[in-house]
Parts: sequence; structure tokens; C-alpha cells
Amino acid sequence: MLTRSKIPRLGLILPAYNEEEVLPTTLNVLQGIKASLVNQMLVSEDSFIMIVDDGSADKTWSIIQQQERQNSDIIGVKLSKNFGHQPALLAGMTESSKLADIMITLDADMQDNPDVIKQMVEKYLEGNEVVYAVRSSRETDTWFKRNSALAFYKLAGWLGVKMVPNHADFRLMSKVAVKALLKMPERNVFLRAMVPLVGFQSAKVYYERGERQAGKSKYPLKKMFSFAIDGITSFSIQPIRLLLHLGILVIGIAGIEIAYTVFEKVVGNPTAGWSSLMISIWLLGGLNLIALGVVGTYIGKIFTEVKHRPLFQIEREDGYPVAEEKLTK
Ligand code: UDP
Ligand code: MG
Repeated sequence: MLTRSKIPRLGLILPAYNEEEVLPTTLNVLQGIKASLVNQMLVSEDSFIMIVDDGSADKTWSIIQQQERQNSDIIGVKLSKNFGHQPALLAGMTESSKLADIMITLDADMQDNPDVIKQMVEKYLEGNEVVYAVRSSRETDTWFKRNSALAFYKLAGWLGVKMVPNHADFRLMSKVAVKALLKMPERNVFLRAMVPLVGFQSAKVYYERGERQAGKSKYPLKKMFSFAIDGITSFSIQPIRLLLHLGILVIGIAGIEIAYTVFEKVVGNPTAGWSSLMISIWLLGGLNLIALGVVGTYIGKIFTEVKHRPLFQIEREDGYPVAEEKLTK
């Protein structure tokens, strides 16, 4: 069932950092997919592929320039240095949203199976503004990566960070949704947690994540770990609250020690020096943690305020897409 009246212009967005080995193949495959979508009248003829060169040190940019000369549907964007995967995606969305009606972000190494692009576009045509591509299994991952990812999603969920499990940055967003996302002014960009905050009707499609076709991963373990920590601390002030709870627990332990000392006194067998030392350590430790938690709670409020995240996002006005959209049409 199609609910959209217009054939959308699609922009495929690829961040690329030192991807000379794989980029030509990827572009070839994506052009084939784009052409078949155009033939099926699912996307318009002027759809394009935008590659964001994230400060590559190899031949990535010259490959992009060469491709740009030969193909009218390829657009290159060069960042002035290596900003990282997430800022590169944001740069691609900022530039593409000036042209495209829908945007799909995917990795340059073909791990995000391009065969599901068609399904994603169909989900948009059915009325969704955001379509998440979700991995149906993690069999191609190592045991460590599989389990650390599971632990990460569990911990994040427990701390109140809303994310679609097993979804990374392979997703479709309509222009309306991208514009809403771009209103978030924050510097710590963690898109997979930001996109759900934007709202709108969304859908999921499932895919098998393949192996990297060529070149090396740009996410070594250390980078992945700090990415995970950043992801959680940018979206949750729960870790600060835990300090408060921990402080109360520690004071509780001091309480047990006091009760035990009183009991020893009554029984008449006190251990010399033990109680004064232990009680003061635990009591002061607990008070310290509580004080930190209280200060932290205020810092947490400052943290959420300085983000200036929009309080609401209008989806439609008078039955039309948001006003901004109307003005640009
Ligand atoms: N990437 C980027 N900037 C970076 C690191 C990575 O634009 O600083 C791009 C990279 O070229 C690829 C995507 O982000 O298109 C995902 O990176 P990679 O495949 O190395 O990560 P992995 O799949 O191993 O997690
Ligand atoms: Mg990869």
C-alpha cells in the first residue's frame, strides 16, 4: 500500500575514511541498486550517492573526484580533517537534506547489505519517516564482539538510553526526520540514540551483516569502548544517581557496624579499636558518596539543559508535512 504521492529523490550517504581498496566496488554495486530502484519507479531518476571523505590519507578523495567526473549521480564531500564516523554521517545528512527527500546512511565497506535498500524505501512509501536496518544475527561477529554488544545494549537500556538493539547506522530517514535530527545542537554525536528521540512513525527491516569486503576496520577495540562510554554518558545521568544510592548503601553498612558494636558491648566482649575505626571509615565514605551524588544531580541538570535539545517536534500542520517542508517545495 503506497501512501506517498510523489516518487522520492533518494540520497545514499557513505562515510569513507581510508577506503581506497573497497570504494570502487561499493560505488559500482550501489549504482546498480539505484538504477534498479529507478526502473521500478520507487525513487526518482535524479537520486544520488554522496560520499563523505572523512579526512582520508590515502587515495579515497582522488577516487571520489574521478567518479564524480564520470557519473552525474555521484557527489563528493571532503571534510577538512578526520572528524570521525558520526560527525561524517551528520555532515552527509546536512548536505544531502538540501537535495534529497529520503536519505539512507550506510558503511563504505559493504557490511551493510545493500539488498535491503529496496525494502527500506518501500517502508518509507508506506508512510514511515524512519526505517531502521536491524541485524538478524551476529554470527559473523567474534564471540567477544557479540557478547560485549549484548552487554552494552542491556546496560544502556537499564540506564534509560533508548536504542534499537542490533541496529547501528544503517537507516533511512526522510527529509522531515533529518531536519528534526539536525536541530539537536550537541557535540557528542551518538546517532543511534539520537534518532529515536526525534520520534515519527518508524519501521524495521532485517538483514545479515556481511564481512568487510576489503581494507581494515577503523574501529579498534579501544575506540569501540570509548564510543560505548560516550554513548551512554551523553544520554543518561543515571550513573550519577547511582552514586547517591551507593552512598545510602554504605551508610547502611555503617549502621550494621554500629549495631554490632552495641551488641558486643552488651555481650561484654568488645574488640579494642575496631569499632571507632570501621564505623568512621564507612560513615564518612557514605556521606562523601551522598554529597558527590547531590552535587552530581545538579551537574546532571546542567548537562541536560546545556544540550538545548528541542522540547517537541511537530510532525504535521493542517494535514501537511511541517511548514519548513512546505516552504522548500
Ligand atoms: N569511518 C569514518 N571515519 C572514521 C572511522 C570510520 O568515516 O573516523 C567510516 C568508515 O570508512 C566506514 C564506516 O565509517 O565506512 C564504518 O567503519 P568500519 O567499517 O571501519 O567500522 P566496523 O564496521 O569495523 O565497526
Ligand atoms: Mg565495517
